[in-house]
Order: sequence, then structure tokens, then C-alpha cells
Amino acid sequence: MTQLSDLPLRDDLVGRKPYGAPQLSVSVALNVNENTHRIPEETAVDIISRLAAAVLEVNRYPDREFTGLRVALANYLQRGLTPEQIWAANGSNEVLQHIFQAFGGPDRSALSFTPTYSMYPLLAEGTGTNYIAVPRGNRFELTADSISSAILEHKPAITILCSPNNPTGTPLDLDCILAAYEAVVSFNGILVIDEAYAEFAHDTSITALNQLDGRPNLLVSRTMSKAFAFAGARVGYLAADPAVIDALRLVRLPYHLSAFTQAAAEAALAHSTALLANVDDIRAQRDRIVSELRELGLDVYESDANFVLFGGLEDNAKVWQQLLDQDVLVRDVGIPGTLRVTAGTAAETTAFLNALRVALAK
Ligand SMILES: *Cc1c(COP(=O)(O)O)cnc(C)c1O
Repeated sequence: MTQLSDLPLRDDLVGRKPYGAPQLSVSVALNVNENTHRIPEETAVDIISRLAAAVLEVNRYPDREFTGLRVALANYLQRGLTPEQIWAANGSNEVLQHIFQAFGGPDRSALSFTPTYSMYPLLAEGTGTNYIAVPRGNRFELTADSISSAILEHKPAITILCSPNNPTGTPLDLDCILAAYEAVVSFNGILVIDEAYAEFAHDTSITALNQLDGRPNLLVSRTMSKAFAFAGARVGYLAADPAVIDALRLVRLPYHLSAFTQAAAEAALAHSTALLANVDDIRAQRDRIVSELRELGLDVYESDANFVLFGGLEDNAKVWQQLLDQDVLVRDVGIPGTLRVTAGTAAETTAFLNALRVALAK
């Protein structure tokens, strides 16, 4: 049998591990920060009718510029954004890959503040970009000064700030974003704010989208995978200066968004209010998790996302397994003594909290 080591794999990929959150079949899956609510029936029916229309034209390539989707995304984001400022791809992971392909690469580096999203180093590896991991400070928080000095020390081609940060939930203040921008433009670097969880923030008025005007090196990435309950459709998007969009066009594959993806995403955006209806409930469950875990005496991190990181576990791997034994799946993100749990429905949250009480009592 052929082994991976028999193949003429690129030297820099030898020994690497693929992205691999466990995909297990459990009744309460709270491990990858999906929106655990199903989409409303009315929305599903509309999506199906648009897919039906698309299938009749599937002999043709789709609109390479996904014009209708960009118009719909610009309308959704508001703030005077135009379709020329919008990009989209198969998940924001692909949007980020386009950024790495266009602005990273050999002899260039990308910097982020760890612990942070586990895909950033993998995207760097895949594009031959050097990845610089700068450790976060006390309780994973960042300050404007710590951000500026790291950026100015390393002068990376790409700086990524995850706001709020996955896997810690840590919010990012506006002064941090502005300080990061000031630092990157001093050497014409790119600043990416990954706002995958922006809709779950306590104060949603704080977003880097409001800072795009006059800042051509600022890229704000978002996704339909989390708040929009659309993870399976694979749609992520970005807002930036039209010149940035031109750069991303250079590296995308032709027709990268299928006719079905475009049709489904446009239909979903037409129902954005219905799809986002559960966001308030998810936020309430998140805040409930924070307060109940604190009552249990655990070390709980502040979160602006739809998940909570908690520590104070003597043996986190054991607790993870004890939860799984009770059919509840959470995530061990590799931070010693901690686990991360997604805020699901009220019933799922109750199931998690009950299972955790049982696990901790053992
Ligand atoms: C989930 C997530 C994404 C989004 O991934 P998609 O490819 O859009 O599903 C992006 N960034 C972070 C930090 C995430 O946690």
C-alpha cells in the first residue's frame, strides 16, 4: 500500500497535520460553533425554489462575478458599502486563503496573536507564508500598545486579528484595530479583521466595517456559517477597498462559487431577519453558560461570541471524554486545563450543564 511518505510531497508539507475537529455523531454537538438551530421552513422552501431554477441552467458556468450575491451582501452589511467592495467564497476560510495567496507567499510572513483560530497557520503553510505567532497577554487580552509593537517588530505582509477571538471569545476594542492599522500602513502591510462571530457581540455597533472608509489596507472578513445558520452551504465574504477585490480576483479559481451556492446564499440573504432571529437567544444561552460555570467555581473567560472557553479543569481531556460519554461533544482546543463549548439551544445548553455537573462530581 502506498504511504504518504512514498509520494513526492512538497518538503514544507511533510509531517503536517490537516485541520481536524472531530466529526462524531452525538445528540448534543457543541464543538464547532455552528448555529445549532435549524433554518426556518419558509426560508428552506424559498432556497429550494431558487435551487430548482438554477438547476435548469446548470449546463452553463455560473456568473463568475457572483453579481447578485455581492449586491445582496452589500445590502445586508449597509454602511454605504457597494458591491465593488464585496468579495465572497466557499466559506471565509477560502476568503482567507485568497488573501494569503494574493498578499502572502514565499519570503513573506503573516502574524497573529495566539491562541487564535487554528486555520491561520494552516493557510500560511499551504501558501508557503511564514507564520508568526505572538502570544496574547493576561487572560488572552490584547492592548493597542502590544499589537503595535509586535507588528512594527516583525513587519508582516499580513496581520490577522480575530474579533471576537476564537477560541477564547475575547472581544477586541476599536483602539486596538486602529493601532494595528496605523502600524501596518507604515510599511504597506495588510490588516485582516476576522469577524466570523461579530453578530454575537454584546455591542454589535463596534465593527471594523465602520472603519473601511479611507483605509484601503483594511480587510473585514465575515461568514454565513455562524450567526446565519448556513455552515453547510459554505459561504464567507469580505468587505474592503475595490482595489483589494481586484487583487483577490487574480488568485481565485474561475467560477469558484457554484450556481447552487450563489442561488442558496441569495435566497438566505433575502430572509436574513428570519435566519438571524435566534441570535438573541444564543447570546442569552452564552451568558447563561458564563454565569452557571462561574457558579460551579470554574475559570470562565469573557466572550463576545457564540461559545465560551472555561478553565480550572484538572484533567480537561478526562472531562471532555466524560461529556462525550453522556452524548455531549465539546472542543479541546489545546489550551491546558480548558474546554470550549458552543452556546446551542436552551435544551442543548441545559444538557451540557447537567452533563458537566455529573462529570465534575466524579
Ligand atoms: C468558523 C470560523 C470561520 C468561518 O469559517 P467558514 O469557512 O466561513 O465556515 C472563520 N474564522 C473563524 C475565526 C472561525 O471561527
